[in-house]
Amino acid sequence: MTAMIIGSCTMCGERALAHPERSASFCSACARWYALTQTARAQLHDLLEPVVHVWVQHWYAIGVEARDLSEQVELLGLHWAQDGDRNAIHIVREALALSVQPPGVTPST
Ligand SMILES: [Zn+2]
Repeated sequence: MTAMIIGSCTMCGERALAHPERSASFCSACARWYALTQTARAQLHDLLEPVVHVWVQHWYAIGVEARDLSEQVELLGLHWAQDGDRNAIHIVREALALSVQPPGVTPST
């Protein structure tokens, strides 16, 4: 068993248990946030991966090279990340607005 020491949270500076072999340590609140966001990312990956596989198979069968398809995925990632994640945040906010609107109501952007 590895000994734990009291350190400070990498995110907020509060007291935290620090693992001597890890560079980051988290207080309980930041550990919860970290675990939730990592799980959300893993779930998004799991949801997107089958769709991307179908998309790749479709375009590869038509004759688009794997390198060109990979470049399109990279370009989409850059598009979502441009301007400080404004595009990705817009997509998330739009999804949140849709989730709280009654059916048939289009949220304003
Ligand atoms: Zn913290």
